[in-house]
Amino acid sequence: MPTTPFDDLHPETRLVHGAIQRSQFGETSETLFLTQGFVYDRAETAEARFKNEDPGYQYTRYANPTVAMFEDRLAEFEGAEMCCATATGMAAVHGAMVGLLKAGDHVVAPRLMFGACRWIIEDFLPRFGVASTLVDGTDLDAWRAAMRPNTKACFLESPANPTLVVMDIAAIAEIAHAAGALVVVDNVFATPVFQKPLKLGADVVVYSATKHIDGQGRCLGGAILGGRKLLEEKIQPFLRMSGPTLSPFNAWVLLKSLETLVLRVERQAATAAKVADALAALPGVTRVFFPGRADHPQAELIARQMLGPSTMVAFEVAGGKAGAFAFLNALKVVRISNNLGDAKSLITHPASTTHSRLKPEERAALGITDGMLRLSVGLEHADDLIADVTQAAGVV
Ligand SMILES: *Cc1c(COP(=O)(O)O)cnc(C)c1O
Repeated sequence: MPTTPFDDLHPETRLVHGAIQRSQFGETSETLFLTQGFVYDRAETAEARFKNEDPGYQYTRYANPTVAMFEDRLAEFEGAEMCCATATGMAAVHGAMVGLLKAGDHVVAPRLMFGACRWIIEDFLPRFGVASTLVDGTDLDAWRAAMRPNTKACFLESPANPTLVVMDIAAIAEIAHAAGALVVVDNVFATPVFQKPLKLGADVVVYSATKHIDGQGRCLGGAILGGRKLLEEKIQPFLRMSGPTLSPFNAWVLLKSLETLVLRVERQAATAAKVADALAALPGVTRVFFPGRADHPQAELIARQMLGPSTMVAFEVAGGKAGAFAFLNALKVVRISNNLGDAKSLITHPASTTHSRLKPEERAALGITDGMLRLSVGLEHADDLIADVTQAAGVV
């Protein structure tokens, strides 16, 4: 289905021009095909289409031209053979895991994960007979020890939410493949700009397109990317029959956002680097975690694995929860929100929001302290953000 004649062009150029399907009117901007279904000129055409002998569309739960443009453009940028769009990031995580696994299988994943991803693996999959083992994701021996004869998938996110700990995707892929398991990477925090998990050995990449891909806080969306055979056999049938379909309207918004993805993510990460350095120099701030700083505990792995840092900064303020809340309540530009990847800088206190489901001991073991804050850096001027966090640190 991809119609791009530009295989030799740079990724940024392909994010603007790639995978476009122009209608008979030759419009400049991509068309929003807001339609549930499609009509056929003759009964024979409908029959041929249902037999897969005619390449047209049938019904938007199966495929839609605007959704296809989004899928094909993102696949080109990721370097994947195929992409399946989904209604949300969690539909992508769920769809990938349910598509790949069946009762009797076993999955290995790190303890440190986005809360809902952990729920899928720890609470939901076991109901359907898929056992799971959770490990310290930075400990390769722990991954090795967790593999069983029936381990069919490993799931991880890197950098991980909210502490920005990084996992060695290539090494984990080697361990998983040696045990006969596939590797699914949630690449949201790295973004498709700064990390290419498929090149590192992962089999499937998932995104919440809600985050940097939209980047302007409007639509929920998700994507599953990987090899064509794997997706066509294991994942696409599940999505088409069970129905977590991306709306063509949301696909259109996300498709147009891909045009500015590199521009936004690079600027946001450059600003995040400046804000991280400024935070590290502030009196009320006790620690800063940023994948672009030399003091990140895994700086060497980051240099090997990532093409750039992240738009996310985690840091600890003095005074535990009270200090963190005082900091949040003093902010004037940065907004308090558990979302991320937005043009607006957003900040959250993971211990009382995104990771409040975990027991206090478990949060402590994962490094999610009561004074930790997670900042998603937006498109504001760096100096305004630095001034804002500086005055907020003054009240801690
Ligand atoms: C937000 C997020 C998700 C879930 O995405 P939704 O679009 O909210 O369903 C999954 N993984 C990570 C790392 C996320 O940040």
